[in-house]
Amino acid sequence: MNGFPSDWLVDAMVPASDVELALLLVNSMDLLEDPPDRLVDLQWLTHVLTRVGHAQLAGELTKRDLPRLRRLRDAMRSVFETDDDTTAAEVLNPLLVKARAVPLLTEHDGAIFLQVGLGLRGVAALEARLPAALATFVAEQGTRRLGVCGSDPCRCVFVDRTRAGTRKYCCSYCNDRYAARAYRRRRKH
Ligand SMILES: [Zn+2]
Repeated sequence: MNGFPSDWLVDAMVPASDVELALLLVNSMDLLEDPPDRLVDLQWLTHVLTRVGHAQLAGELTKRDLPRLRRLRDAMRSVFETDDDTTAAEVLNPLLVKARAVPLLTEHDGAIFLQVGLGLRGVAALEARLPAALATFVAEQGTRRLGVCGSDPCRCVFVDRTRAGTRKYCCSYCNDRYAARAYRRRRKH
């Protein structure tokens, strides 16, 4: 069972944020893996969700959810691929409306939180929460902080948290692959 590069996440030790869950869902299609599509069944996704602190969500998914998960994955990918905030809005707004992604106040351990998808389970929760998380991210930081790996043939996506906004690769493995190819090209001359 393949895992995932931990540098996709801010901190592999805490439950992943909903933006990170969107990232993991999109990267379930990984052209460097064989086979590239790891959403032909639920094995990879439930393994990954459990590993990043979302065992309950993982347990709520069923095989019948796979077509909806793949559709959600495609839509989330297009938000990472575009550099245009208007395009992101055109993708995300209909998803938010359709999933009734309404923020509601909820109390937990004496603190109060605003939460989307309250009471929703499994794929329905993901359909509300992931677009809401990306919409919030785009509103705060813009689509330019969401990117696609520049190390061919990898098309995995990443969140650019560098101060200068200069991240180009999804993980250090891709960064090293790109650097090695550049090195070989230079040596030929
Ligand atoms: Zn990559």
